[in-house]
Amino acid sequence: MTQFTLGWEEWLALPDLGLPAIRAKVDTGARTSALHAFAIEPFGSEDKPMVRFAIHPDPADPGLEIICSAPLKDRREVTSSNGETELRFVIETTVAMNGRSWPIEVTLTDRGAMAYRMLLGRSALDDDMIVSPSNSFQQPELSFDEYRAIRRHTQHRRALRLAILTREPTNYSTRRLIEAAEARGHTMEVIDTSRCYMNIRAVGGEVHYDGRRLPHYDAVIPRIGASVTSYGTAVVRQFESLGTYCLSGSEGITVSRDKLHAHQVLARHRIGMPTTAFARSPKDSGNVISLVGGAPLVLKLLESTQGKGVVLAETKKAAESVISAFQGLKADFLVQSFVKEAAGEDIRCFVVGGKVVAAMRRRGKPDDFRSNLHQGGTAETVKITRSERETAIKAARAMKLDVAGVDLLRGEDGPKVLEVNSSPGLEGIERTSEKDIAGLVIQHIEEKVAPRPPKQRRRAP
Ligand code: ADP
Repeated sequence: MTQFTLGWEEWLALPDLGLPAIRAKVDTGARTSALHAFAIEPFGSEDKPMVRFAIHPDPADPGLEIICSAPLKDRREVTSSNGETELRFVIETTVAMNGRSWPIEVTLTDRGAMAYRMLLGRSALDDDMIVSPSNSFQQPELSFDEYRAIRRHTQHRRALRLAILTREPTNYSTRRLIEAAEARGHTMEVIDTSRCYMNIRAVGGEVHYDGRRLPHYDAVIPRIGASVTSYGTAVVRQFESLGTYCLSGSEGITVSRDKLHAHQVLARHRIGMPTTAFARSPKDSGNVISLVGGAPLVLKLLESTQGKGVVLAETKKAAESVISAFQGLKADFLVQSFVKEAAGEDIRCFVVGGKVVAAMRRRGKPDDFRSNLHQGGTAETVKITRSERETAIKAARAMKLDVAGVDLLRGEDGPKVLEVNSSPGLEGIERTSEKDIAGLVIQHIEEKVAPRPPKQRRRAP
């Protein structure tokens, strides 16, 4: 058997953890190996326990931070060289050195700044390995520049700890997202948005839940219902300030929920939409009606969802009486030109990461101009035109939403966006398209949270 000699310090890689270069101290005085990590948090189910942690591989560069996750093997008491006993998480991982790789057990410890991020103990050494304590680097040397060379598409895939913010833990969309995440090896925790509470601080703000601080998530999927938009977006903002990737950002949710604001943003980005006007004072009713070109026109309560507050007024007289009814109820509304040629149909484009991944045409009941499925409409898959595709993508981008359901009408002079939904339902679109949309959403999250090459720092010559 040829000998494999190790010096007292060596470079190695831990590929399962996505760590291409670590400078380790080889210490045969210690039995177990240790990795100096921080933010060490167990997660996952009892039958599949996991641990998530962060590491600064380069002791000289605190800006280089890699998040790792691994199956949890054990929790064990370990006495370190200074005599302190500590209960540590134990993982099994692969170590690679000079073309050779073998499994080792590693304990995770958070003991502040140590010159070596890893200690290689004697149980990690195979029988043919010899340690030469007076020499260092007997094996090829690596460099921390390996981290700067990480290419986005050759990313290391790790198990992610995800959370879904919802008040409907059992609905179709929630179930499918959990299923898709688990199918890809991730963990999804369901959090009731309205049960989150927070402390607001400049540094180190937290989100609490059920008497404890919520852990670090790799990503959060907000599915905030219309009734809790304000509180829900506050929770999302808190996660954002902690640096957690949120699939829909608080800004996108807020803007898309407010029909007036949303139309203003769409208009600013020159996205086609029905001519829209709004007014508050009864004195201006006649004026807004003429602004949109007179009857027939559509009136919408600002808080309308599922088509519940959307009315078609065929004549000016009918429009005036609906407007006066809305005003009597002190309800805010907008007035819109009626896109007659859409003929009771609209198109839902499902956008994920700047692409339309599926589209469906929804058609209302024969006597209804509204095509909402909640109003008894039906849906089928549809082939969209290039301009519809571009409009949907542009609308999602204007709203700063990575995932969005963009509803548009087929107008004579091109697509007209009605609404951009920040937590689009998955049931209709998956059923009609027969595509794994939930899987595509999770895949997008993986791309978003994959470690990126850190910015190149200027080094002293
Ligand atoms: P909600 O948010 O309550 O669903 P929408 O603005 O999406 O309200 O309108 C509901 C439905 O009414 C749409 O899906 C569409 O079929 C129809 N509709 C809405 N606005 C117009 C319009 N300006 N012209 C023609 N049909 C419209």
